[in-house]
Amino acid sequence: MMNDIRSVGVVGAGQMGNGIAHVCALAGYDVLLNDIEEAQVDAALATIRGNMSRQVGRGLISQAAMEEALPRIRKAASLKAFESVDLAIESAAEKEEVKHAIFAELQPVLKPNAMLASNTSSISITRLAARTANPDRFIGVHFMNPVPLMKLVELIRGLATSQETYETSVRFVESLGKTIANAEDFPAFIVNRVLVPMINEAVYTLYEGVGSVEAIDKAMRLGANHPMGPLELADFIGLDTCLSIMQVLNEGLADTKYRPCPLLVKYVEAGWLGRKTQRGFYDYRGEKPVPTR
Ligand code: NAD
Repeated sequence: MMNDIRSVGVVGAGQMGNGIAHVCALAGYDVLLNDIEEAQVDAALATIRGNMSRQVGRGLISQAAMEEALPRIRKAASLKAFESVDLAIESAAEKEEVKHAIFAELQPVLKPNAMLASNTSSISITRLAARTANPDRFIGVHFMNPVPLMKLVELIRGLATSQETYETSVRFVESLGKTIANAEDFPAFIVNRVLVPMINEAVYTLYEGVGSVEAIDKAMRLGANHPMGPLELADFIGLDTCLSIMQVLNEGLADTKYRPCPLLVKYVEAGWLGRKTQRGFYDYRGEKPVPTR
């Protein structure tokens, strides 16, 4: 049997990477956190501290659990430090070349029986795995945003993923207190296959002038009982991530119903990527969000 996982390396310390490090540390794993931009790791560590403090404030975790968890997360200046990890989770930008390059860099560093996982929202696990030396030890572990709050993790087996890798991943995900939905390895899996075309349709609804930003979000919050409107949600996910997922669906399924809305493309071209850049369908720089159209 493959050794169970004790230490986890996370590549990419953005909004997902910091959440993954957070839940792993709270579950007792030693965590190494890396980012191509060192400042991102420092920002992630500060975010994790802030988010855990909020959890303590709400009585969700104890002060002691937080104090034990925080020192378990260590900064990895380079991927060379990943020689000690049992599982490396890639959560860098949603660009296939970026992910291939990270796996190529990790390959010579990792222990022979280490497992590799990607948190990709939409890229083929089979294709990512095929470029690694051990596709049998590669799996898709797709967390939801915000990781500390969201219960679900989709597990996606590539064509070559072994049963052992799958079973180890199930134990790992359950140890984080998360619930698993198994998804086959087709573009965008389950959640984003359904969710992101809905967001794209909301952007078309805005683009065609059917409703304003506020009307569209209000309609879906109160009319469909969604906790957030689709445009608010798009800003939360990141408009670049939404666009990448639509491109993957469009290319992978070749059906025109998946064509990205030109307005979504324009926001991404402007660098208005949502909350993470302070502007998207809403402007977050003031006291409360203001629609940008
Ligand atoms: P993000 O832009 O917040 O963070 C990505 C981080 O990766 C950045 O800090 C960037 O500096 C870093 N990075 C880029 N290239 C790198 C490299 N070569 N090595 C190390 N770090 C590198 O994005 P995010 O929202 O955290 O998304 C990360 C991944 O998680 C993507 O694959 C995305 O599809 C997936 N995902 C996102 C969501 C979501 O709601 N945002 C949900 C589930 C999964």
